[in-house]
Amino acid sequence: MPEAASYRKVDLHTHSQRSDGHFSPTELVDLAVEQGVEVFALTDHDTLDGLVEAQQRANAQNMIFINGVELSTQWQGIPLHMVALNFSMDNEALIRVVAQNQAIRLDRARRIADLLVKQGLPDLFDEAIKLAGESQLGRPHFANLLVEKGFVKDTNKAFDRYLGNKKLGQLRDVWPELEAVLSALSGQGIELVLAHPKRYHLTVTKLKRLLGDFKKWGGTGIEVASGNERPDNVRLLERLSREFGLTASVGSDYHGPYGPWMQVGKFTQIKESEVDLVWQSWV
Ligand code: AMP
Ligand code: MN
Ligand code: MN
Ligand code: MN
Repeated sequence: MPEAASYRKVDLHTHSQRSDGHFSPTELVDLAVEQGVEVFALTDHDTLDGLVEAQQRANAQNMIFINGVELSTQWQGIPLHMVALNFSMDNEALIRVVAQNQAIRLDRARRIADLLVKQGLPDLFDEAIKLAGESQLGRPHFANLLVEKGFVKDTNKAFDRYLGNKKLGQLRDVWPELEAVLSALSGQGIELVLAHPKRYHLTVTKLKRLLGDFKKWGGTGIEVASGNERPDNVRLLERLSREFGLTASVGSDYHGPYGPWMQVGKFTQIKESEVDLVWQSWV
């Protein structure tokens, strides 16, 4: 039946150990299969490293796998995440954006460590590098160290007290501009999706301004449901998806079996018949 796509279980936003997730790409695919997911994207922060492994496992499991990555960008000084989906592994423009962001992550980690030292904490840079290993180094690694060393009781507190965007106020203009990233990636058939739009605490007026820019610069989609987003927010994002002509994406943003994350495959239900689904042409 043509509408079969709507009944497939889809998750287009997840993390593995290649960035700040708990499971290996293989374990994550297995978990997604267990949860009944049929169309699945791995979207680690600023890395393509897990995709080949995940694709292989998904093939063995007869699951539809979509290449993905969650790119760090900024707009008007606000850090924003964009999920790129359904690209080819040899896309040079994307490889360049990812490499640039990886270099930024390393430089930013040095600066984060310095800011923590200024607040009386030990220099955690080397340990953070070691903890990250081959994963993309990020704030969660610093958060885990702060918990492990007893400076805070959990990672949430680590972000509250030390690592949240406001706390790292001196680290402004870290990421590449949204306009530059979109202009590098648009027009190549890649889905370019604004991730979790309600997590930036923008007024609706400002969110609409962002979506206007996003669309104008070549963005194609919007994540209407992300994890446990409130249903009224999902309704708003469905309306904005139609208003701005952006396809609708969904994802759990699963990182692991701890903290605030929803299970893989789980997110607030969307009204699939009222939006253009990003995965419609893939299934
Ligand atoms: P980074 O990519 O280094 O900027 O780190 C951002 C990541 O930190 C997000 O993708 C989340 O996984 C995690 N994160 C952000 N805020 C919190 C929080 N309050 N508690 C725990 N983890 C968080
Ligand atoms: Mn993360
Ligand atoms: Mn994100
Ligand atoms: Mn994410």
